[in-house]
Amino acid sequence: MTSLPKLTKQVMTGAAFCCTLWLAGCAQQQPAPVVNLIPKPVNLTLGEGYFRTDSASICDGAENIRYVINPDMAGEEAYRLTVTKNGIEAQAATETGLFYARQTLLQLLQSGGVPCVTIEDSPRFGYRGLHLDVSRHFFPKEEVMKLIDVMAYYKLNRLHFHLTDAGGWRIQIDKYPKLTQEAAFRTESDWRKWWDGGDRKYLPEGTEGAYGGYYTKADIREIVAHAAEKHITVIPEIEFPGHSDEVFQAYPELCCAGKPYSGGDFCIGNEKSYRFMEDVLTEIMELFPSEYIHIGGDEATKAEWKTCPKCQALMRREGMKSVDELQSYMIHHADQFITSKGRKLIGWDEILQGGLAPNAAVMSWRGEEAGFRSVRMGHNVVMTPGNYMYLDFYQAFPNTQPYAIGGYTPIKKVYSYNPIPKDSLTAKEEKHFMGVQGNTWTEYIPTPEHLEYMMFPRALAVAEIGWTPQDLRSWEDFKPRVNAHIPVLHRKGINAFTLSNEIDITMSVDTLKKQISVFMDAEKHPAEIHYTTDGSEPTQASPIYKDAVIVTDSADIRAAIFKDGQMQGEPTVKRVDYHRGINKPIHYYNRLYPGYMAGGMNALLDGYRGSLTYLDGRWQGYLDNLDCVIDMGEITDLHKVSSRWMQLTGPGVYQPTEVELLTSEDGKTFTSRGTMPTTISQDDSRLLFQEYTFWGEWKARYVKVKAKNPKGFIFVDEIVIW
Ligand SMILES: [Zn+2]
Repeated sequence: MTSLPKLTKQVMTGAAFCCTLWLAGCAQQQPAPVVNLIPKPVNLTLGEGYFRTDSASICDGAENIRYVINPDMAGEEAYRLTVTKNGIEAQAATETGLFYARQTLLQLLQSGGVPCVTIEDSPRFGYRGLHLDVSRHFFPKEEVMKLIDVMAYYKLNRLHFHLTDAGGWRIQIDKYPKLTQEAAFRTESDWRKWWDGGDRKYLPEGTEGAYGGYYTKADIREIVAHAAEKHITVIPEIEFPGHSDEVFQAYPELCCAGKPYSGGDFCIGNEKSYRFMEDVLTEIMELFPSEYIHIGGDEATKAEWKTCPKCQALMRREGMKSVDELQSYMIHHADQFITSKGRKLIGWDEILQGGLAPNAAVMSWRGEEAGFRSVRMGHNVVMTPGNYMYLDFYQAFPNTQPYAIGGYTPIKKVYSYNPIPKDSLTAKEEKHFMGVQGNTWTEYIPTPEHLEYMMFPRALAVAEIGWTPQDLRSWEDFKPRVNAHIPVLHRKGINAFTLSNEIDITMSVDTLKKQISVFMDAEKHPAEIHYTTDGSEPTQASPIYKDAVIVTDSADIRAAIFKDGQMQGEPTVKRVDYHRGINKPIHYYNRLYPGYMAGGMNALLDGYRGSLTYLDGRWQGYLDNLDCVIDMGEITDLHKVSSRWMQLTGPGVYQPTEVELLTSEDGKTFTSRGTMPTTISQDDSRLLFQEYTFWGEWKARYVKVKAKNPKGFIFVDEIVIW
């Protein structure tokens, strides 16, 4: 201790505690044990004191540290751990269970030794995965093995290795050497320069300045063996029938047009496609002992199939009515082949189209519905819905982050995911949930440092979702632990994101009390949040957030974390209005886009404002112009109408070119109250918002808001009427 403590009862008790602790041969004062396990174990009882040891003896074993195989224990990955002052005993039915006991011990270990604990632990799911795309950007085997080490530390046990895609073919195949000779390198590393706005050209191996790479068979064997040592299964993915542009650079005869750069789909009507598939999968299965082999199956464009004579001939021969059936024809072929070799097929959820062999499994990525449909059909499923499990999405306010593909999955959002929602499924259906997986697509992730930054610490949330029973999980409980693991990750050489300084401001709209409760939370822990409600900059003197802030009219919330009197980062801003339009009926004269209805007709007038992502279920998106009318119920004195719009050009979301306000007393004759153009350039690729506010004194019952769509999507939330 560096400062003199006040003599309080607490300190006295603490001192007495320490004496008892270290009677057995230790004079120096010991810190109180800190237990920050991720994933959180099923059952943990903290005892008193420590067993004194170091990490080497935990790993290699030592006197008084026993690892015991106990065949009577249930569960392949379960373990029991007893740490007393005199020794450590780990028990499990398998080596895997003992391995996890060891990981827990390594996480428990601190300067005083291992705190005395009793732990009974086993995972919720057998499949706890991370997916890594090495096609869009290539990562050396050393990086892959580093990730495997960290995965093991957090009891993740599946690495889904996305080895082939348009970004480049990444694995040596003896029978098709041109795959790596011709299709593993390209003209540019930067995806924006190469794919989004570039030539998308491949270059032969050895070309000076070419970007790319691949794993030799020796590399793959090394990775697979290293993973096996860490009790991790590597699941290879080879894409069929779409996402295969690079294949046709090497073997153009396998696509419909018979020439490179003509599309990304295999020709389904060509016998050679099946020979290629079987040959490649044969070599893949020789390298990867995984029970499941991933064959992609996602996002085939099916464009060339419509006119290709070979594909059309196959359709006629098989009596197929649509090109969709060509997709399932090829998947069926892969399924039969893989099954005949004693393995099982897994693929993205598009493979559900056209039915599947009973033992094939599905990865539900386009939301969760496909996952639920799969289990009802009796298929095993891995849940990896984009809105929660995509680790390439932004993890903090986009303008503070390196360029990403879009989306918004801060760690709290990831952590909130429950693969099996309560009461929605039968016990039999629940058995088909293999587990969860976080996916890292690497279009905009060029380096290992950036990869680690995107994956961590969000992968720790995935690990806990996969391991810890749902009823033991809470964000409040996870938050301090994940904060404690940031320095742990850094010590392991992982360039983890240090968590955001932003304030998560959420609302609860109460239409009976006609008020909105505003809640604030932060990823950082501990976090002292100061806020204002009048739009002014918060200072150390501003109120500290403790309980919900109640808003009955309007508030401009600004909130920030303060540490040692200093504001951390920029304040988070949120406009809150319990406005007069809330819950008023709205009629649309334009089409709503089915995927982005934001929960329905009421979404624009529910008091809730959209967050930083159009995927949050609050933003309503249209491919048409917006043209809607709100009925205030009676002729009303109005003085302000505003609407807030988003721009994120990456996924094609633009500001309207202009927004117009019209009012009417009878709903037939409308008077324009003005139009307002956007002030945001369509060339600005940042995430940007504009609020279009009309002021005036109008008597009206009907309020019409029109917005012109320049191209692509326009997204709005909320329309505020005063
Ligand atoms: Zn074809």
